[in-house]
Amino acid sequence: MSDKARKVEAFISLGGNIGDPSIAIEDALTALANKPGVTVTTRSRFYRTPPWGKTDQSEFVNACAGVKTTLTPTELLKTCLEVETSMGRVREERWGPRIIDLDILTYGDVTMDDPDLTLPHPYLTERAFVLVPLKDIAPDFQLNGTDISAMLEKLDTSEIVAMDQH
Ligand code: ATP
Ligand code: CA
Ligand code: CA
Repeated sequence: MSDKARKVEAFISLGGNIGDPSIAIEDALTALANKPGVTVTTRSRFYRTPPWGKTDQSEFVNACAGVKTTLTPTELLKTCLEVETSMGRVREERWGPRIIDLDILTYGDVTMDDPDLTLPHPYLTERAFVLVPLKDIAPDFQLNGTDISAMLEKLDTSEIVAMDQH
C-alpha cells in the first residue's frame, strides 16, 4: 500500500447542547462516515454531561468515535468543520452553546502546536466528558505513558451519565 493510502486511526469527540443533541451526534456520525477518506470504525455510548468551562448553559450530550482515515490532520479538521457547518453550527463564543461540535482528540501519534490544530487536543486530559466516552472505545488509550484510567482518576466523573444504548 502506498503512503498516500495509509490509514491512520484518529479519535473524535462529538457534543452539543442545542435542540436534540443525540440526534445531532447521530447525524454528524453519518455525515462523517459519508466523507471521502473517513471510515467510522467505533462509537461510544452517549452521555449526558454538565457544561464545562462556561457553566451557565444547558447540559450537553457527548460521545466519541474512532475513525480510520487517509486524510491529513488538516484535511480531517476541515472535514469536521464542514460537518459542523452543514448542520447549521454558527461559531460564536468559545465554549458557548452549540448544535454540534467535533474535535479531533488524537491523530495517530502526531503532535502539533498550531492554534488552528493542536494535537493531541489541549484539554483532552482535563475533560471527563471526553475521557469517559473515549474509554468506551479505547480502554487501552495512553498519552505520554499515562493510561486513560489514571487520567480519569484525577477527574470528577460523577455527573457523566450514560444514556440508553444507541
Ligand atoms: P475547545 O477546542 O476547547 O473544545 P471549542 O470546541 O468550543 O473549544 P471551537 O470554537 O469549536 O472551540 O473551535 C475553535 C478552533 O479550534 C477551530 O476553528 C479549530 O481551528 C481549532 N482547533 C485547534 N485544535 C483543534 C482540534 N484538535 N480539534 C478541533 N479544533 C481544533
Ligand atoms: Ca470542543
Ligand atoms: Ca471545536
